Amino acid sequence: MKLTFLGATDTVTGSRYLVETANTRILVDCGLFQGVKRVRERNWAPFPVDPDSIDAVVLTHAHIDHSGYVPAIVRNGFRGKVHVTGGTASLLNILWPDSGHLQEEEAKFRNRHRSTKHSPALPLYTEREGINALSRLARHPFEEAFQVGDITVSFHRTGHILGAGSVLLEADGRRLAISGDVGRPEDPVMLPPDPLPAADVVLVESTYGNRLHGDIDVSGELGEVVRRTMDRQGVLLIPAFAVGRAQTLLHLLAQLQAKGEIPKVPVYLNSPMAIAATDILLEHASDHRLTPQEVRDLCETATYTRTVEESKSLNKKKGPMIIISAAGMITGGRILHHLVSFIGSGKNTVLITGFQSPGTRGSALVGGADEIKIYGKYHRVVADVERLEGLSAHADRDELLEWLKGTEKPERAYVIHGEPESQDAFRLALKDQLGWNATVPELGETIQI
Ligand SMILES: [Zn+2]
Repeated sequence: MKLTFLGATDTVTGSRYLVETANTRILVDCGLFQGVKRVRERNWAPFPVDPDSIDAVVLTHAHIDHSGYVPAIVRNGFRGKVHVTGGTASLLNILWPDSGHLQEEEAKFRNRHRSTKHSPALPLYTEREGINALSRLARHPFEEAFQVGDITVSFHRTGHILGAGSVLLEADGRRLAISGDVGRPEDPVMLPPDPLPAADVVLVESTYGNRLHGDIDVSGELGEVVRRTMDRQGVLLIPAFAVGRAQTLLHLLAQLQAKGEIPKVPVYLNSPMAIAATDILLEHASDHRLTPQEVRDLCETATYTRTVEESKSLNKKKGPMIIISAAGMITGGRILHHLVSFIGSGKNTVLITGFQSPGTRGSALVGGADEIKIYGKYHRVVADVERLEGLSAHADRDELLEWLKGTEKPERAYVIHGEPESQDAFRLALKDQLGWNATVPELGETIQI
């Protein structure tokens, strides 16, 4: 086997790894590049290999930076299957059409405002193309091997989000394990990651390779932020995608309300996909820690806002209230309208809960920006900006090391999926603490397995 790094080498986005034998070609992850323009522009470069020459795609999980380029390669001639777990398939049913829709909206916006070098600006793919790609999905249970040409493939649970798994690929007596994104051992909703299967070569993510989440009482801190904002009769805006962290937040809010630790203020989950998200949690009960009653409780905590009109009418309401709305890194979606309405008042709070890629509005807010640009206009940041670190869906440095202690030492490890300083710090940690032979790969580099 050989492997070529086609993305997520110097950034956390654009995960793409081409794995080849003499007669089989698999793309593990096929993600969108997100964040700063220099990185986003990679989405528009011609794909390095002819999509028609790829036998199959295997996805570690549904996040768009791991899956969101699939509809583009399907449109450009890829004819194979996309192998996923059941949880990933359910999430992609929502994510791919939504991603196509957002890209159409963005292209329309650029054309309207002539903010494009290309005329007309085109979406990378459309909502229709996002829907078309769903017909390629082939579902597999965790731990059950399947065959693509002469490569044997299996998924191994990593927590993180529903359906997320490491991928083990075996051919010619050699084994390659790709970690995917790794969740935390003590997540309020997700199960802890299973050990990474033993392999000759390991690729491991390093989103938080140089950081520790600390011993945070997430529920307590969330409660404090809610109380502070509600005391001011303010609006608490939480950017989060409708599926995943949004349910974790609702679960924590439901518990805090039940215990009387926060007032019973209205909570809006502003997303057309909110109902589907609940169904997915109930359908994949073995993928998470929640009981069916807890799922129902978290659902009842929120009022679901589905239409654009309902969404916009929230901007006319006054606090106290809580609004959860996508996108998590404020790269698009309904959260933008809410920010325009609410970011100019000191009564309100924007609560950032996940990793923010450099170049995103979320990252600018966390960095203390005085103003942010939305729909071509600058808006002063007067609202409080708070960060809740402990809700991360990624293991931190020590949690990653602890997780890797559960697997056999490989011949070589490659540190992927991190900003450069994080990758390098984690490479050193692997060497010093586990004695692993670890390297940070270059974009486009090919290695023999
Ligand atoms: Zn992820």
